[in-house]
Amino acid sequence: MTTIDIMSLYPKDMNIYGDSGNVLTVTRRLALYGYEPRVTAYNQGDDWPEHVDMILGGGGQDTGQKKIIDDFFRRADLLRTLAADGTPMLMICGMYQLFGEYFETVDGTRLDGIGVIGAYTVGQDVRMIGNLVEHSDDFGDVIGYENHSGQTFLRDGVRPLGRVDADGRGNNGEDHTEGARVHNVIGTYMHGSLLPKNPKIADFLIRTAVERRYGAFEPERHQTDDQRAALAALDRAADQARRVA
Ligand code: GLN
Repeated sequence: MTTIDIMSLYPKDMNIYGDSGNVLTVTRRLALYGYEPRVTAYNQGDDWPEHVDMILGGGGQDTGQKKIIDDFFRRADLLRTLAADGTPMLMICGMYQLFGEYFETVDGTRLDGIGVIGAYTVGQDVRMIGNLVEHSDDFGDVIGYENHSGQTFLRDGVRPLGRVDADGRGNNGEDHTEGARVHNVIGTYMHGSLLPKNPKIADFLIRTAVERRYGAFEPERHQTDDQRAALAALDRAADQARRVA
């Protein structure tokens, strides 16, 4: 069996607005492509698993971010190395902020980030809340929902995940950027959950993980007809969800 090891990063404290749906989507799609997904939840104090092909992190309240920060820094070098090696990762909202350089919360606490993404975040009183569409060179139109107080600013040369229209807020409500892409790390404010409604991003993470581990992504060698049909049904459901979002 061709196994893919997925890490769900800090699901106890960093998992709001349905972000665990991203783990479910990747797991389901991998299985329908004929691979065997193996999910490990990594929470504070846990042992680091032997093998990691993909890491998914969710959003969290400022308090959740403060809770995990010490453990997160114990794992910082590991995460930086995996990111630099090209491990696919998806970091939503609170974890996106902590993959940047720092997050200064609205109460003035400064949380250092691990600096995988050249960006910094400053909390403000007014939260940025609402449905959101962004236009991404890599993934077309990406749809989701944002809810954050932090305004994130990308350093020069850092590629945003996409651009929001005039009515969207995105990274900071000022420069129309949303998210960031560094190596195969995607940081974004998009909850939704993101991946059920944006299968192109799910498939990017899957393809990258499989290619890195096995050299090639070849669902046709593994997939049964039933699995192919179930995947097509899942894609139709995603299309429908995108239309009503
Ligand atoms: N606590 C952070 C903020 O408010 C992140 C919020 C989130 O993950 N939705 O900016």
